[in-house]
Parts: sequence; structure tokens; C-alpha cells
Amino acid sequence: MAGRSSFWRKRVDNFFILLLFFILLLFSLFFYLEKINRDIKNYSIYQQTLQKMIIYEKDMENCFLKTFRYVDYDKIEKTLQEFEEDILFFKQSNIGKEFGAEAVNSVYKIEKLYLQKMDLIERFQSANTRATNAIHYLYDLRKTIEKLYPQERRSHELMDQFFFLFGKVLMGLPLDTLLLNKDMNALKQERKNRYFDYFYRQTEQFVSDVNLIKKIFETSENIDLLGTVKAFSSDLAYRYNNNLFQQKIITMSFFVLAFLILIILFFQYRRVKKTTLELKAFRYAIENSDNAVVITDAQRHILYANEAFEQHSGYKIKEVLGSNPNILKSDLHSREFYRELNETLDRGEKWQGELINKRKDGSLLYEKASIMPIIVDGELVQYLAIKLDITEYVEQQKRLQQAAVAFESVDEGILILDGEKKIILANPAIRQTYGFAIRELLGKEPIILAGDIKETGPTYQKVWSALDARGEWSGRVDTYSKEGKHIPVWLTVKAVTGKKQDVENYVAIFTNLEEILEMKERVSFLAYHDNLTKLPNRAYVEKELPEIFELAKILDKKAAFLFVDLDRFKVINDTLGHDIGDKMLVILAKRIRNVVKESDILARFGGDEFVVVMSGITDKRQAGRLAEEIQHAVREPIRVQEYHLNTSVSIGISVYPEDGEEIGTVVKHADAAMYHAKEQGKDNYRFYSAQLSVEMHRRLDLEQKLMHAVEKGELSLLFQPQYELKSGKVCGAEALLRWNSPELGPVPPAQFIPVAEETGAIVKIGYFVMEEAARAYLRWKEEGVELEWVAVNLSSIQFRQDDLLENFGRIIEETGIAAKNLELEITERCLMEYTEENLAILNGFKKMGCRISIDDFGTGYSSMAYFKNFPMDSIKIDKSFIDSLPSNLNNAEVSTAIIALSHSLEHTVIAEGIESREQEAFLRAKGCEYGQGYYFSKPLGSDVLAKFVKSR
Ligand code: C2E
Ligand code: MG
Ligand code: MG
Repeated sequence: MAGRSSFWRKRVDNFFILLLFFILLLFSLFFYLEKINRDIKNYSIYQQTLQKMIIYEKDMENCFLKTFRYVDYDKIEKTLQEFEEDILFFKQSNIGKEFGAEAVNSVYKIEKLYLQKMDLIERFQSANTRATNAIHYLYDLRKTIEKLYPQERRSHELMDQFFFLFGKVLMGLPLDTLLLNKDMNALKQERKNRYFDYFYRQTEQFVSDVNLIKKIFETSENIDLLGTVKAFSSDLAYRYNNNLFQQKIITMSFFVLAFLILIILFFQYRRVKKTTLELKAFRYAIENSDNAVVITDAQRHILYANEAFEQHSGYKIKEVLGSNPNILKSDLHSREFYRELNETLDRGEKWQGELINKRKDGSLLYEKASIMPIIVDGELVQYLAIKLDITEYVEQQKRLQQAAVAFESVDEGILILDGEKKIILANPAIRQTYGFAIRELLGKEPIILAGDIKETGPTYQKVWSALDARGEWSGRVDTYSKEGKHIPVWLTVKAVTGKKQDVENYVAIFTNLEEILEMKERVSFLAYHDNLTKLPNRAYVEKELPEIFELAKILDKKAAFLFVDLDRFKVINDTLGHDIGDKMLVILAKRIRNVVKESDILARFGGDEFVVVMSGITDKRQAGRLAEEIQHAVREPIRVQEYHLNTSVSIGISVYPEDGEEIGTVVKHADAAMYHAKEQGKDNYRFYSAQLSVEMHRRLDLEQKLMHAVEKGELSLLFQPQYELKSGKVCGAEALLRWNSPELGPVPPAQFIPVAEETGAIVKIGYFVMEEAARAYLRWKEEGVELEWVAVNLSSIQFRQDDLLENFGRIIEETGIAAKNLELEITERCLMEYTEENLAILNGFKKMGCRISIDDFGTGYSSMAYFKNFPMDSIKIDKSFIDSLPSNLNNAEVSTAIIALSHSLEHTVIAEGIESREQEAFLRAKGCEYGQGYYFSKPLGSDVLAKFVKSR
């Protein structure tokens, strides 16, 4: 931009010189006008002075008119003095400079004339005085002569004659010289005495003075002082007017010149402004250009770079100023290339070409560049480079190449059509899939792939009309190879529009769906079916339900949703292994399928949950009957490998639309009903009822109240004695939790324990039980009732607490009970969950020295072998086995087996729920060591228990 700035400077310099000149001119004009003003003032003073002089001169002339009269000589003296001063003023003034030497000459001429005049006036004064005095003297003399010589008549007459003559002279009449001379001669004759002689001589003197005055008058008339002054005045006026005219001309010239300069300045300003605007526009264009513009000095140091340069190169302008543009250099050009470039520039020629440069971040920058030397007055001053970023274009070019390769090698068939929908290009995949040679395809319409036009024609039309409307279409279509093989494809067609928005090409991509469809069918089957039983799955049911409900609604029928849950399946699974469990599920699925109508859905929801959806029923009792059939089918013993397994199901039923119109509600209600059926003792089915909801509410209520039961002290313990069957001696007691709620009354553990487990409250409750039991035990001990143990029930939920061992250890320490006096009852089912962790906890308890007993043994279908590794002391046969003893042979056998097995593993056995003497006797006979039950004692308060023991 250096060239630009010098250009600008030149313009500005001219402008300022002119402006300076203009100002100077204005100053000169000002001073000149000032001078003119002064001249005018001087001139008027000169003229005034001259006017004054004219008046003085007239005063002087007047003096001559006062012949024979009184003259005020003081006044004349003053006038002369003033006149003289005025002459002096002129002599001292600049009049010579202002009006030339002529004017000075005039002044001197006036002075000369003035001096002559002054001399005349002085002479006139003396002559006039003398003459006047002579008349007075003559008059007096005549009086004297008349008095002295009255008789001298002739002399008197002569003297009269003279006075007459004098009178004439005084009146200004000319003196008759002839007469005078005659009279004088006569008088001369008459001189008889000295008076007459005086008279004669005096008269002679008077006549000579009168003649002198007359002569002065004549001389004075020749001295034209007045005329000279007047002439000087008018000469000054003339010269002044001349000057004035000249001044006018000069002033005018000044104005004209100033005006001209002003105009030039104005145009200059306009030009500078225009150039500035042009430069601004030029700069704006450069700065906003998409092209990178770089200017360097002759040594190729960057002087300027625009914003596009920043964008292209990634460098900030500040960073590159002063550096050589080769900071952008990549290693991708040969040395030759750069040499050729430099040589071209050195020759002062323009270089054009493509550069592969490097951005600041190291990425490649492709540029189409023109570099030109800027030569001013034959000297290279700068270089200008204009560069267009073509990276995208180059990359696009590469991509196009890649696309071309892809076009050739992809598995998808690709057809490219012209605007008339005629094939202009087909890739190898098309040719291979459809068996057409390229020449068979070119120029044809793609319908050639559509097989029987009668069948596929409408679809073909649909595709084109969609393309015309939206510019693209995609969907499944059926196509046929040259041999007529059906090929389902996913067709994607896109219209490629040109600049004028009209379609130039169509690109059609044919994705062969043969494999995909096969796969999809498989996937869909998998997605909607259970892999094990091949029954539909939950997703399937959820997909189908809306339609089933919709149909039921239209036909005004009902649909039933049956939730079928196997009882205690988990136990079988865990004890006998997943293999056995799976096989059992498959058998059960088949059995249930056999009783469910073909048109109804039987699905497996996961685990041991099955669902039956009955559609189009009129009475919900139909669902009840089906439930019974299912139960019946399940109840049949199942044989898997060597095992004969017995199981049952609990079924919950909800009916659309009476139990709910939403899918979610219907499912939820069936689930609730199933849950209820389980609660009611399993192997059961239940319809959903509003009552059920009430119960659920009750449960919720219970939950909330239970949360605060511990703090409110509503919980307490009862202790049921455990005794040795042989001796009847009380050896321990089981702590059993009781809840006496002020609102609900006594709530049985069977009701609130599961709730406490679900809400997690059981953890806190567990510690409470533990602590209370320990304290009770120590109280008994203090009272002298020394039992071997106090037993506490542990819930499986408590087992999941990481710090269970730690907390129990603390309680033992705090209360002071010996660990060996503490028996922990863990249900069989609890032990079957979380085996690894549970084992670790059990070992922990064992290490502490606690006794461990397995509660409710026999309800979990666990095999004794399973517990071989568990560190336990005794096994507690579940009350359900004891109940029907000894009459029920099956239970009698099981109990006998449990006792025998336990003993073989060196565990003692305790039977719970002994209610009769027969039961006790049976167990004792079988070798069962301990017992507990109403027959011996119901659960008792802590104090009562102490008394009970003492009383025995
Ligand atoms: P469980 O541990 O099997 O306790 C024995 C249950 O059988 C007790 O019922 C007891 O009163 C009852 N029982 C004992 N002998 C007879 C009899 O001859 N006839 C009849 N009909 N019943 C008898 P309870 O107290 O209702 O406890 C029920 C269950 O509640 C317990 O079964 C136990 O699993 C649970 N439970 C009770 N207290 C606690 C506790 O503190 N913690 C935990 N986690 N569970 C507890
Ligand atoms: Mg128990
Ligand atoms: Mg029990």
C-alpha cells in the first residue's frame, strides 16, 4: 500500500501549498486595503490643509485691499504663520511617496511664491502706513497754513486742489499725473515759507508711496499663489483619483486571484475526496475479497495481507508482517518450481500457477495464485500476490475420483440417468446383478429392470411422480434380472438439479434386499420370540395388544390377560441347575400351549412368567376356566432326566375393558392379581378386583406406618422356647418380632415382614431385634435362667448390607453377650440367593462364634448337598412338614430323610410348629434333637419366659 500512500501524500501536499498561498493572499489583501484606507485618510488631510491655505491666501490678498486704511497686522502675522506651518506639514509629509516628485515641487513652488508674497506684504505695510500718515500730516499742515496765512488764496486753492486729488486717490480713482505735475510745479513756486515746503515735500512723498503701492499691487497680481495652491489641490485630486483607480484594479485582481485559488482548492479537495473514496472502496474490496491478497516490499517482506489470507492460512496478519511469504511453503514443490517462480518475478513478469502451501496448523492449502511485481518509474517497489483457496475444489476433485472408484466397486447397483430419465451410466454391480451388458442399458429407461410392466408399472409411475414432486424417493421395489429372477431392492432415487433448478440427472441406487430381508425375518422372529420356548415374547404381546383390544371394542367383546407365574421355580433352577430349569420351562410351555386356544396368545415374559391373552371372550369365567386348566396341566409331575419335579402356578387375571382400558393398566392389574394369588398360598388364581386395589392401598398404608414403628417403640419381641425333645429341657428361645400399631392393632409378621423387606426397613429393624434379644438373654442370665442360645431371624435383605458383620460385632460387644449364645436363623431360600457373598458372611459369623441354623428347611427345594459347604450348626424343619405328621406318609418320609441327612452332615435338627403329642413323639423317635411349638409353649414375653423356664 506504499504506492497508494505516496499518491495520497502528493495530493495532500498540493492541497496544502495552495491553501497556504490562499491564506497569504488574504493577508496581503488585508494589508493592502489597510494601506488604501490610510491613503484615503492622508489625502483628505492634504486637501483640508490646502483648503485652509486657500483661505489664508485670500486673507493675505484682503490685506492689499485695505490701502490707506487700518490694517490688523497681528492677524496678518498669524495667518502668515499658519500658512507657513501648513507648508512645513507638507514638506514633512510623505506626499512625495504618495503622489510623486511633482507634488513635492508644487510644495516648494508654493513656498517660493509665499515668500515673495510675504515680502510684498511687508513692503505694502510700510508704504501704506507712510501714505496714511502723510495724509493726516498734510491735513494738519493745511489747517496750520490756513490759520497762519489766511490771505494766501492761491495757495489755499492749490492745497484744496491737492486734497481733491488725494480724495480721488483714496476713492481709488486713477491719479491724473498731468494735473498733479502742474499742481506740483505750481506748489513748488509757491514755497514761500517752511510750511509750504513741508507741504510740498510731504505731498511728493505721498505721491511716491501711492505709486509704490500701485507698483506692489501690480507685482502682487503677478504672484499667483492662490492659483498655484488650487492647481496643487486639483493636481492632488487628479493623482489621487488615478491612484484610486489603480488600487481598485489591484484589489480586484486580488479578489479574482483568491477566487481562482478557491475554485482550484475546491476541485483539488473534490479530487482528493474522490480518490479517498475510491481508495476506501478499493481497500474494502481487497479486505473483503475471497482471494487472499498479500503485498510485499521489493525484498519480499510482507507489508500487507487481507482477512482472506488469515482465513486461508490460519496465520494472524500481525504474525506475518515483515516475514517472507515462504513461511507458507510446503515441501510438496520441487526446487525447480520455486526457481522458475523466482526467475519469472525477477524478470519483472507476472507469475501464475497453483501453489501447494501449508497452513499454520500444518494442513495443506491449495491456492491458485497470481504474483506480480509492481513497477513504479522503472523501479520494482512491491510484489502483489492474489491467491484463491482451491483446497476444497482440489479435495472435491479427489473425492470425485474416489467416488468414481466407489461407483465402480460398490455392491450397490448405481444408475445415472439424464434429465429425460434415460440411462447414461450403470456401474458394474448393476450389470452383474441384472445380467445386462452396458450397451443393452444405455439410452433405455430404468423400467427395463422392472420385469412385467403390468405388475410393476404402477409402482414405477409412483416413483417418478414422487420424484417430480419432491426430487427424491426411496422405498422397496421389486425388480427382475434379464433372466427374470426376482430381486427385491431398496431403491433410492435423487434428482440432481442444475443451476437453473431444472433436473439435470437422476441417480438411482439399488440396494439388494435379498439377504437383508432374510436377515430381517430372522431378526424379527428373534425380536418377538423367546429363544428357549419359541413362544412369543413381551415385545410381541405389547405389539399385538392394541389391535386385540381394538377388535374387542368393535365387536363388543372382552379380552382377558392372564399372568401365569411358576411357584418356587427359582429354587429348582438354583438347586438343580439352569439346564434342568430350562427343560422344565420348555415342557411347561408346551403343556400350557396345549390348553390355550390356537387363536389366543401364549407368551413368555421372561424367567418363570408366562402370559396368556384371550381375545373375543364374552364372560370372564372363560378365563377362570382356562386358568384352572393351566393349573391342572402344570400340576402333573414333570420328569426331567432322573428328576420327578412337582410345581404349580399362581395366576392373576385382568379383563379388558372392565379392569382397565389402557394396556399398562390391564397388565399392572393382572400382575397385582397374580401377586395376590401368591400371597394367598400359591397354586392359585385370582381375578383382579377393586378390592385388590384396596388391599394394595392398605399395603401402602402399612408401609408408611412401619417406617416409623421403630422410633415410636411400637415393635417388641416375644420369645418362643426351644427345648430338647428327649428331656423336655428348655435350651434356647427364638425371638419373634411383634408389631402393635396404635392405628392398625397387632399386625402379624407374615404381613409386615415382607413389607419391611421391600422397603428396606428390615435393616434397621434387624439391628433392633438383635439388640433386644441380646439384652433379654443377659437379663435371663442375671435372673439365673441360663439358656444355651437365643435365636434371631435374619432376612435375606440384611444379608445384602456390606457392614452387617461389623454392626453385629459391635452389638455383641456393646451388649456383652457371648457370640456362642447367639443363634442366627437364616431361611433356606435366603441362602440360595447370592451364594458367594452369603457364604462369606456366614463364615464371618461363624468366625465370631455365632450358631447358625437354617430356617424353614424343606420349602426351598434345595438339596442337602448344596449346603455341604455351609458352616451351619442346625437345620430347622419347616412347620409345613410337621403339620400333617405322622399321618401324611410323604411328609413323614421327607422329615425322616431330612433328619437322617442332617445327622450324616453332623448338623443337629430342630422341628418347628409341633402342635401335638404325636408329632413330638414321631420326631423324637426319628432322632430329631430339638423342638418348638404351641404344644410346648407359645411365644412368650421376656419375663414370662424366665418364669416359664424356672417353673419347669
Ligand atoms: P419362623 O422364623 O419360621 O418363625 C416361626 C413361626 O412359627 C412364628 O410365627 C411362630 O409363632 C410360629 N409357630 C411356632 N410354633 C407354632 C405352632 O405350634 N403352631 C403354629 N401355628 N405356629 C407356630 P410368627 O411369629 O408369626 O413369625 C412368622 C415369621 O416371621 C417367622 O417364621 C419369621 O420368618 C418371621 N419373623 C418373625 N420375627 C422375625 C424377625 O425378628 N426377623 C425376621 N427377619 N423375621 C422374623
Ligand atoms: Mg425362625
Ligand atoms: Mg420357620
